Amino acid sequence: MNYQAIIDDIFHKVQPLINEGKQANYIPALAKVNPNQTGVCLKTLDGREYSAGKSSERFSIQSISKVFSLAMALSLEKQNLWKRMGKEPSGTAFNSLVQLELENGIPRNPFINAGAIVVADILLSHLFNPESEFIDFVRLISGSSTVNYNFSVARSERSQGYLNAAIANLLKYHNNIENDIEHVLQFYFLMCSIEMNCKELSNAFLCFADHKKAFDYNGVFLTSSQVKRINAIMQTCGFYDESGEFSYLVGLPGKSGVGGGISAIYPQRYAVTVFSPRLNEKGNSVIGMKFLELLTTETKESIF
Ligand code: GLN
Repeated sequence: MNYQAIIDDIFHKVQPLINEGKQANYIPALAKVNPNQTGVCLKTLDGREYSAGKSSERFSIQSISKVFSLAMALSLEKQNLWKRMGKEPSGTAFNSLVQLELENGIPRNPFINAGAIVVADILLSHLFNPESEFIDFVRLISGSSTVNYNFSVARSERSQGYLNAAIANLLKYHNNIENDIEHVLQFYFLMCSIEMNCKELSNAFLCFADHKKAFDYNGVFLTSSQVKRINAIMQTCGFYDESGEFSYLVGLPGKSGVGGGISAIYPQRYAVTVFSPRLNEKGNSVIGMKFLELLTTETKESIF
């Protein structure tokens, strides 16, 4: 498969969409990002790399970090994790409160904010030094020792984070948070603030694409069956209330973030990341969605 020619072709095909959608502005620091950029990187399990555009430009990974925090929490809690959250698509916005109230403080899945806030609480309860252990794990799987948090983006999000604070309070009311709420929120926002580029993200997601072998990164251990199941949750819940649409159009497990990144996996073959900050009304990158739809259409490769 000539991935480079296909990527170059699709890169040009999606450029007419460059002004569609709006970058996230509810996090003040993200409103300052140049919205008119696109980067792509596809990495195969046999070590090839294909890229286009701003593939080395770091951006705020936001909710893509929820895959990494889930991996760590699952390795620590195993089956017990599912006593504190579900694994069903939510069909609601990533920051919705309504369902959480109706379902007595048990988030639908680990990829909506409520679930990821519980995951942050779990990491705080288990880890001696959560901030450094988490970033060390992300550095290890991305193969890049310079990946880091952006503390000012995290502070900027905290300054306006009223909805996530409401979610954390509702979780605490239902005894689904063990630690101090402020500490949990700060750690959650910090994980969201990590900056990576398309190449680093594709490296990290390759670890999940290789689901036939166990995942073992410096003490974060998952069986191949657990890795396969993280892929299953990406497939059903990775795009909030647009997960069905992503599955329909693209047909790969993946995860998006409001920084404009989308990482997706073709199991046993490749991981691909697209970055473009303008989002549709569901909070997913307009160009990212279209790029991946065309990629799986033109290559005729998807899990279906
Ligand atoms: N930090 C963002 C928030 O909590 C992450 C949301 C996202 O990327 N969908 O709102």
